[in-house]
Order: sequence, then structure tokens, then C-alpha cells
Amino acid sequence: MPDPILELRDLDAHYGDFQALFGVSMRVAEGEVVAVIGANGAGKSTLLKCIAGAMPVRHNAIQLYGVSIGGDPAHDVVSRGIALVPEGRRLFPSLSVEENLLIGGQLGRKGPWNLKRVYELFPVLEERRHQPAPSLSGGQQQMVAIGRALMANPRLLLCDEISLGLAPIVIRDIYARIPAIVAEGLSLIIVEQDVVQALKTARYVYCLQEGRVALQGEAKALTREKISAAYFGV
Ligand code: ATP
Repeated sequence: MPDPILELRDLDAHYGDFQALFGVSMRVAEGEVVAVIGANGAGKSTLLKCIAGAMPVRHNAIQLYGVSIGGDPAHDVVSRGIALVPEGRRLFPSLSVEENLLIGGQLGRKGPWNLKRVYELFPVLEERRHQPAPSLSGGQQQMVAIGRALMANPRLLLCDEISLGLAPIVIRDIYARIPAIVAEGLSLIIVEQDVVQALKTARYVYCLQEGRVALQGEAKALTREKISAAYFGV
């Protein structure tokens, strides 16, 4: 296996006295799509927040290209090449589609992504570029959220439940663009409730249960029975 670009080593996370993650270890290689699945409250979003610099964690619990970044502030993490597509999209409602995208590029990392490339990936956004972000459909807003993260030219893209609340045809449409993103050499961690979609998209899957890795393996080797057992602890 190639050297990982991201490695989590025995990662714990807490909200005050409440411990949400227990000793999570994980590796993501260059150009690889890794899925994190699990029931509600399993700790999936917390895991992404830790990587994105939004939670206090042990410094050496998160390594990017062998450098400890755990607990570094979010803007440092973005400038090192990690971008988050947050759950619920969190677009700026008073700004247009294009203004939202431009905000993603503010840190100015060099790389293949710019407005033109994002519009090639999602042509509908170019048609709607001057519209206020909230006037778009849910799927189009999700495209803006992904485009905004790409504008930061990350090496690793973290996607938190990009299919949430979207119709199956829209989910397929968005997931159909992932190969074009990976083709630019990016790695992805996708947090997904839609297990079928996660298994189709990812090479490797981690299943969290109550803050611990209950199952991990190559997507093609995971059976429905193994996943349900890890999901529900039965
Ligand atoms: P979901 O799919 O419902 O978003 P999840 O797997 O992403 O679930 P997390 O949101 O990471 O789960 O939550 C993990 C645990 O941490 C849950 O028990 C949740 O109640 C708790 N938790 C999450 N955010 C906070 C917070 N801000 N303060 C306190 N506890 C929290």
C-alpha cells in the first residue's frame, strides 16, 4: 500500500466530559476514496471535525504527510490542503453562487481548481452563478458546497453526508462527478448514511459504532451481514 497522506493514530475526541471517539486509527492514501459509515450518533461527523481542525485533539493523533496537525486551527488545516464539505452545506445565504465559490478560494492554494473548472464539473452552477445561493435546489446547493471546498485546492476533501435529504437521482448525479475529482489526484473521505452509495464509491470502508471502529475493510469484501452487525452491534 502506498504511504498514507492522512493517518489517524488512536484518536480520541471529547465534548466536555462526553467522549465521542475512542482510539480511532485510519489511513487514507493518495487518490483514494475512503467511506466512513455508521448509525446516527456513531461519531462520523465528529471524526471529520477533528480532521478539519474544529475539535481539540492530541497533536500527534492526526498526521498529514507525516506532520502532526491534530488540534491545529481550521484555517491552518485548510492551508495545508484539507477542505470540508460540512453537513447541511452551510452556504452564505446573502451571497450569490459565485460569491460562495470565491470564498472557498480565499486562501489561494495553487492547484487545478478555479471557477472555470468548478463550472465545468457542475455546469448548472455557471447558469445560476448570479443567483442567491438559497434560491437553488438542494442538489445544486450541495454542488456549490462541494465546489467551494474544491476552490481551496485541497489534497484531501472531507464530505459530510452529501446525500442527506436529496432525491436518489440527484445523489447519483452528484456521485457521478467524484471520479473527475479523484482524477485530479485528490483523496476523499466520505461520511455516508447511504451504505450502498458508500460501498459503490469507496475503495475502503470504516464502520463506526459508538465512537469506535467496529469494522473496516475493502468495500468489495464487506458483506451486508458484516455491515449490519457492525452498525447495530448485533
Ligand atoms: P449523525 O449521522 O446523526 O450526524 P454522527 O455519526 O455524525 O451522527 P456525531 O454527530 O459525530 O455522530 O456525534 C457523536 C456523539 O457525539 C453523539 O452521541 C452526539 O450526541 C455527540 N455530540 C455531537 N456533537 C456534540 C456537541 N456539540 N456537544 C455534545 N455532544 C455532541
